[in-house]
Amino acid sequence: MSVVHAGDFAAERAQLVEEVAALYVETARETGLRAMSPAVRAALGKVERHRFVPESQRALAYRNHPLPIGAGQTISQPYIVALSTDLVAPRPGDKVLEVGTGSGYQAAMLAEIVSQVYSIELIEDLGREAAARLAALGYKNVEVRIGDGYQGWPEKAPFDGIVVTAAAPYVPEALVAQLAPGGRMVIPVGERHGVQELLVITKREDGSLERRSVLPVRFVPLVPGNR
Ligand code: SAH
Repeated sequence: MSVVHAGDFAAERAQLVEEVAALYVETARETGLRAMSPAVRAALGKVERHRFVPESQRALAYRNHPLPIGAGQTISQPYIVALSTDLVAPRPGDKVLEVGTGSGYQAAMLAEIVSQVYSIELIEDLGREAAARLAALGYKNVEVRIGDGYQGWPEKAPFDGIVVTAAAPYVPEALVAQLAPGGRMVIPVGERHGVQELLVITKREDGSLERRSVLPVRFVPLVPGNR
């Protein structure tokens, strides 16, 4: 018997939400988060991940796995996207920077919650495609720029949150500088082709930094731009 899809994958998406919610519970001791927040849960249940992956990957879009999106890059695992979104503690009025637009999926997740998302992508084709996709899906609060994420987006700073979706060998100084007092940055730091630690860096009101290691993760590397 063949499975017929309604076309919008609503049932698959609902199932993914439950799967990710269960992973939050399993990892609660490491992450310090007891459950997925209602805002992230709603976004995960709403954003159509199948629209962010190549046609050939659509049937796999609601598995909790990273998938290839071209140019040697990947759309991250849904659990990691949800977790990163929760760790940046997004509030409705926030302005958030993402480094590594890729497919635009993480940007869409953030855009469901905060008022403005700025996202930087190094690879021109991916950035253009993601910007067109987000516009077609009706996201008016996401701006994509082609450029080097190591530099951040100084013209739009300061940011209440920064989500870096590629592995960095160290925490880029420019990004720390562009974080607002009270702001949070989520960033995988470590070896380019190994395991990294997902860090949450909080800038206190006095400008000092607090750093917490959350989980071992594997992201594609942040490519050094023209510095
Ligand atoms: N957030 C994406 C997945 C990111 S994969 C999504 O939701 O689909 C990491 C992305 O970071 C890739 O698209 C890669 O091209 C981009 N990238 C790598 N180095 C970068 C840099 N220095 N500046 C900006 N983007 C970079």
